[in-house]
Amino acid sequence: MRHSAVVLFLLVVPLTVPARPLTSDAGAAPQEYHLRLYHTHTGERLDIVYRRGNDYIPKALAMLDYFLRDHRTGEVHHYDPRVFDILEQLTVAVGRPGTEIDIICGYRTPWSNQYLRAHTEGVAKNSLHMQAQAIDIRIPGVPTSRVRDIALSLHRGGVGYYPHSNFVHVDTGRVRQWCFECSVPQPAGD
Ligand SMILES: [Zn+2]
Repeated sequence: MRHSAVVLFLLVVPLTVPARPLTSDAGAAPQEYHLRLYHTHTGERLDIVYRRGNDYIPKALAMLDYFLRDHRTGEVHHYDPRVFDILEQLTVAVGRPGTEIDIICGYRTPWSNQYLRAHTEGVAKNSLHMQAQAIDIRIPGVPTSRVRDIALSLHRGGVGYYPHSNFVHVDTGRVRQWCFECSVPQPAGD
């Protein structure tokens, strides 16, 4: 009897642990998603919370759209906000949440894309930059090859690696990858 009583006691104890106070969940603020960006062509900086929980913040998205405007023509296009999630996840995954990201290129008008195609290589005719679904970036202090590897591991869309220009292209198109001017030939451009 004595032995049974001890066993019963051990079984009952976990059930008596008090539930967590209601305030720990009910009062918790939704997670905030934050980006710090530096645009290498305009010299502008943006430090912004663009999403709370599952809700994108319209005013923040509008500021991001303007920030990522075609720097040649000044035209603004509404961005696919999922590309911002990719950027935010990248900073977390490289172990530097909230670190500043260099923007090499955001939105491109068709004119601007054609201009680039005429003057440089590695630019696709139907680039997702023209749909405001693509951004070219680097993360200061993090090797571009590592940014590429982390971007690929997210499986969130296309990832292009431009080692000679030292940037990575990310987009919200289908999952695919390419490397521009790499030793192993691969399809070029977006
Ligand atoms: Zn690109």
